[in-house]
Amino acid sequence: MSPDEELAHNIEAARKLFAGTCDFVLGVAHLSQLPDADKPEIAFAGRSNVGKSSLINALTGRKALARTSHTPGRTQQLNYFDLGGGQLYMVDMPGYGYAQVSKTQREEWKDLIYTYLRGRPNLRCVFILIDARHGLKDSDIELMDMLDETAVSYRIVLTKADKVKNQEQEKMIKKITATLKTHSAAHPDISLTSAHKEFGVPELRALMASYTD
Ligand code: GDP
Repeated sequence: MSPDEELAHNIEAARKLFAGTCDFVLGVAHLSQLPDADKPEIAFAGRSNVGKSSLINALTGRKALARTSHTPGRTQQLNYFDLGGGQLYMVDMPGYGYAQVSKTQREEWKDLIYTYLRGRPNLRCVFILIDARHGLKDSDIELMDMLDETAVSYRIVLTKADKVKNQEQEKMIKKITATLKTHSAAHPDISLTSAHKEFGVPELRALMASYTD
């Protein structure tokens, strides 16, 4: 397929993927509750407040969908959503980098995530959301290291691009690209998005759809 044909194919696949229902399936607090690994799965990760709920809602066009993950009790779970009538699982991973979290809670988060990453063969990619103003923080690098170690592919998705001037965006992309070169499981391309302006959202949908083949 030529690049143009591939793009057209992915856009059509994305239309199909996002045209149907997008339902909350379940929240997984213990890995024994994971659903069968019978379809591809893409996970969204990021520090608290990075704009994860806003981006998931923009992608799915359902305003209140990812609010469930802000519900007390659901914040430390892997929240599973079904896309396109069983075509793909979208997983909203618990946020990290909260200031007020105890060491024990941080260790629990690490254990849950590490075990999940190591034992989920259908997990095709983790999208790590990074605030375009702030760049990579230590907690992001910690997750990237876990992904490298467990050999799970991941991509960086910059959020809140509307808050940053073009020149600053370019600088940030260059800086992160340089860091990604030292991470074995990282995809070299970086996506730029704004949930508020719907910028980069159709492209991200197409990217997600490309993992359903
Ligand atoms: P989460 O904690 O990662 O789920 O983040 P939220 O989606 O709740 O967003 C955190 C804050 O960032 C909220 O005040 C949002 O309004 C704001 N936010 C999210 N996405 C964008 C965006 O694309 N542009 C701007 N300017 N603000 C955003």
